[in-house]
Amino acid sequence: MNKIKIIQGDITTLKVDAIVNAANTTLRGGGGVDGAIHRAAGPELDVACARFHGCNTGEARITPGFRLPARYIIHTPGPFWQGGHHGEAQLLHNSYYNSLALAAQQHCETVAFPSISTGVYAYPLDQAAEVALTTIADFLKNNQVVQTVFMVCFDPRTLTAYQQAYQELNR
Ligand code: ADP
Repeated sequence: MNKIKIIQGDITTLKVDAIVNAANTTLRGGGGVDGAIHRAAGPELDVACARFHGCNTGEARITPGFRLPARYIIHTPGPFWQGGHHGEAQLLHNSYYNSLALAAQQHCETVAFPSISTGVYAYPLDQAAEVALTTIADFLKNNQVVQTVFMVCFDPRTLTAYQQAYQELNR
């Protein structure tokens, strides 16, 4: 059975088929998890990302993992929080959904996500967790390729928010 696992850790260390990067629309690296992934994957990653000439919010692109233990990196710019009335929830849903669709297309069985948009992009954590987990659960119900999705929380506050959202959804 395919499932969701909520864990605390550093996404760059995971040996999974694909990790997802909370990128920005340039795809040329930035702070937070994006910077950590580019540092760990090595300079080849920026060369590969440059070829895309950017990516719209909510869309996704895939590259090799280069020096990472993961085989692939899926890059998706999540929405910047602007109060909640600028399509943020739909765009965040699109980021998770399109990343999973790309992973399935590349026959990935294990996929790891960071908490997209809840760092510099300031999306409220509880609301982001609900969108993330609902989208992942719906995708897993309808897809036979992706078996396990890890939600990788960097800090205890993020871990608690995702654990609580998960309990609410399974109530
Ligand atoms: P965004 O711009 O989409 O908000 P950030 O990188 O600022 O992206 O933050 C997204 C989440 O990723 C935050 O919860 C942040 O703490 C977390 N994060 C930062 N570094 C890592 C890492 N190495 N592994 C997993 N999560 C990370």
